[in-house]
Amino acid sequence: MIPDAVAAVRARLPIRYSAPRWHRAYRRVARDSFRTVPFYRESWALAPGSRVITREQALRRAADLIPLAGGVPETDHRRSRQAISRFAAEVGAARRRTGRTVGPAVAVEELAGPGQPLHAGTLLTDPLLGYLGVVGDCGLWHLPWPDVYARRTACGIAVTLLQQKSPRLVDVLLPGSAAANISVCVRHGRPVLTS
Ligand SMILES: [Zn+2]
Repeated sequence: MIPDAVAAVRARLPIRYSAPRWHRAYRRVARDSFRTVPFYRESWALAPGSRVITREQALRRAADLIPLAGGVPETDHRRSRQAISRFAAEVGAARRRTGRTVGPAVAVEELAGPGQPLHAGTLLTDPLLGYLGVVGDCGLWHLPWPDVYARRTACGIAVTLLQQKSPRLVDVLLPGSAAANISVCVRHGRPVLTS
């Protein structure tokens, strides 16, 4: 096969998950946000140790989350939904052929409530961050890792959108996530949110 054809085939294949790659993507977005987004330049320079922001802070300072080069002030929920639908097949939550998820949506706040049985394809949503998770056929909340990064902090789970250019959302705290954690699904070898 000629090199261009090989590259074209590779571009269509799903990227394999790797934890170092995931962490690197987060660090790249954080570095770039510090350089180019007024809110992070200001707040991280003043308090370098405490990066997390709340949803309310992000909404209040929405205009300052747009990079200096310009952009839109709101998360594109349609794009976020398409991204999670593409990802769902990786964890057995959608048919690979159609990539469609049909599950109901659960708000992030409900994670802190009493546990309910989780059905494959159920989506986790946040009004600011968009679609953050999907239940795999393993029964766990899978993070759509190419788009969403999450880490445990002293205040709870902080989420970063890796692909969204504007508004730049870095280390936004999930409400009610103080007891939640990030681990790796044994069946799928990909990051999951556990509560
Ligand atoms: Zn899984």
